[in-house]
Amino acid sequence: MIYFGKALNAYKANLHTYSTVSDGKFSPQQVVDFYSMRGYDVLSFSDHRKTNDLTTLDHRGMTLLSGIELHPGHPRFGLWHLLAVNVPADFPGVFETAQEAVDAVNAAGGLSYGAHPYWCGTRSEEILSLHGLAGIEVYNSSTRYIGKEYNMPIWDELIDAGWNCPALAVDDIHSLSDFGHGWTMVLAEDKSPASIVDALKNGSFYATQGPEFTRIELDGYMLHAEFSEVVSAVVVGRFSSGCPVNIPGQPFPGDEKNCRELTVDLRRCRTAGRIQLRDAAGNYAWSNPIPVPPEK
Ligand SMILES: [Zn+2]
Repeated sequence: MIYFGKALNAYKANLHTYSTVSDGKFSPQQVVDFYSMRGYDVLSFSDHRKTNDLTTLDHRGMTLLSGIELHPGHPRFGLWHLLAVNVPADFPGVFETAQEAVDAVNAAGGLSYGAHPYWCGTRSEEILSLHGLAGIEVYNSSTRYIGKEYNMPIWDELIDAGWNCPALAVDDIHSLSDFGHGWTMVLAEDKSPASIVDALKNGSFYATQGPEFTRIELDGYMLHAEFSEVVSAVVVGRFSSGCPVNIPGQPFPGDEKNCRELTVDLRRCRTAGRIQLRDAAGNYAWSNPIPVPPEK
């Protein structure tokens, strides 16, 4: 995997995971066994208001991270759902306000994400009111049950507001039906916990339901990407800007060609563009927003 000119490895991660420590169906060790057998490299637990003691688990060759989901109250939509990754085992589970929770996660060296904002009913301005958030989830498998698994519109509102917000795809797994509909590929030098956490902090990852990026590179203003075969590839810019690269039915229905690469002038996206792919089965992949370099 090459990303911005640097050779990095891609590690398959699920960063939103429950166990019997809260309301998951399976014990922490059963969850580790399950993901390791299905080719995952990284797993982060996120039991509601509770951390997991990773020292008691057989890691099965995976990188395990300690996380938690935090639920401070909100006067309009009830409870925040803040996904925290990389917090210590003695991290507190209860906070009065979302800002206190985010501040505590950051002080502990972790990252916090606005989980499934569409499902929560969270507005972009409410997310923007929190300082120090690491990103949101663009895809959350467990919210499929009421059709609220995709979060692109609110993600784009955050980008339109000027925040090049990174976005994860996660299982949010409680039972087996949540498994494997979206995951995050972490682009890092190795899969030590420190490298994985660094990559997350740098936004060095992409979210996917199947399509794979093999190269994303910026040469001056020219964005070049290579990926597995897809039917739709677009670079989504701020507000109404962006670059349609390959869209089924255009220019003429029946004239569709599949697509494995794109090269566009990123200035067509105003200040940042994110690559969005969709394969023939309807599975998306999303790069993080790529900023347009400043004029020289
Ligand atoms: Zn949640």
